[in-house]
Amino acid sequence: MRLFNEVDQRQFYCQRGGQLLCAPNDMEGSFFPYHEDVEKDELMWSCVESNLFPSISMAQCSLVFHPEYDISFFGLEKYHPFDAGKWGNVYRLLEEWGLVSPSTVVHPEEATRRDLLIAHTTRYLNSLYSPCVCARIFEMSFLYVMPYYFTNKYLLRKMRLHVGGTVAACRLALERNWAINLGGGFHHASANAGGGFCVYADITLAVRMLLTLNLVKRVVILDVDAHQGNGYERDFIGDSRVFILDMFNPKIYPRDSKAEEAISRMVHVDADTPTDRYLEMLDSNLETVLGEFEADLIVYNAGTDSLEGDPLGRLQLTPECIIKRDELVFQAARDNATPIAMLTSGGYQRSNAQVIAESIRNLHTRGLIQLKAAPPPSPRPHHHHHQHNHQQRQQPAPPNPAR
Ligand SMILES: [Zn+2]
Repeated sequence: MRLFNEVDQRQFYCQRGGQLLCAPNDMEGSFFPYHEDVEKDELMWSCVESNLFPSISMAQCSLVFHPEYDISFFGLEKYHPFDAGKWGNVYRLLEEWGLVSPSTVVHPEEATRRDLLIAHTTRYLNSLYSPCVCARIFEMSFLYVMPYYFTNKYLLRKMRLHVGGTVAACRLALERNWAINLGGGFHHASANAGGGFCVYADITLAVRMLLTLNLVKRVVILDVDAHQGNGYERDFIGDSRVFILDMFNPKIYPRDSKAEEAISRMVHVDADTPTDRYLEMLDSNLETVLGEFEADLIVYNAGTDSLEGDPLGRLQLTPECIIKRDELVFQAARDNATPIAMLTSGGYQRSNAQVIAESIRNLHTRGLIQLKAAPPPSPRPHHHHHQHNHQQRQQPAPPNPAR
């Protein structure tokens, strides 16, 4: 049975590659030596044919967001401690401040099953059809009684948009030197497991795509979310092309010692670590890492659950510290001429969206990123007409004759 499937897969390969590796009559005898090549080739084709790399125009900036990032489950999401509208709230603040417009941000594509197989096993993706598996990963007990149709439509599909956003941001960073996905950063998901609200391994997928396509040779993953990024860590154990700098609280979930093997530089942050000490640790470690490891891309997993009062992160960082943290990281990326892609990751208190938006505004104000908003529409092309309109607009409205 197993051999049969593999033969099918290879025939598929032969068709698509346009070349026959061996005649059908010697297939049985010489099949296994080719097997690894076929798998590698399949990975390459999945990356080449993926639609997740976006196109970007001169009028757009490399801020990635989709209006359907936010989760709404007929109000049931309120039974979860998360702000399920965090991503949209960040976007709306940036739009209110005149920094971005719907036409100037990049909308990601939804990751397909074939895209997801770049990072995941078939067995894991199939396991998501089970309500128990999804209920456990998302920590939402009502999912136990939800048919797959609903879980997929209201949750998994949205997560696949976030995945598309992470891939888009990592690719755009190589073009524009910086990119931000307002979502993503599901750092507890790995090839064959999910957990802690993370179902798809967006970081693994994006980094593996860029490595496979030879768009980057070496990548730094900088993870400052309060939790250990055990998902992608498990996926990159033993991979010398990926340097992992993880700063996390060791006393909380997931305490994954197996995944720690992949961490190139581990920095423990405690509940009593003061703000200035935290920034000092980040700065000195980052400087050493970027100096020693020549990376083509920094994937910056910028979780904000290290903010004071977070029930999950249990750290004491102030909003000012988070803003300074992001600034310091983007400044280091610029000083080392290394492209950077930021993901918003964990942190779902009601106040998080405001802090993230303020931090992105600060990056823009300091010239570390360049946000763009569409110019306000001008009603008439001719100058005197325009002026005329302007005067009209300034006139006070005529008094209401009825009063
Ligand atoms: Zn976290």
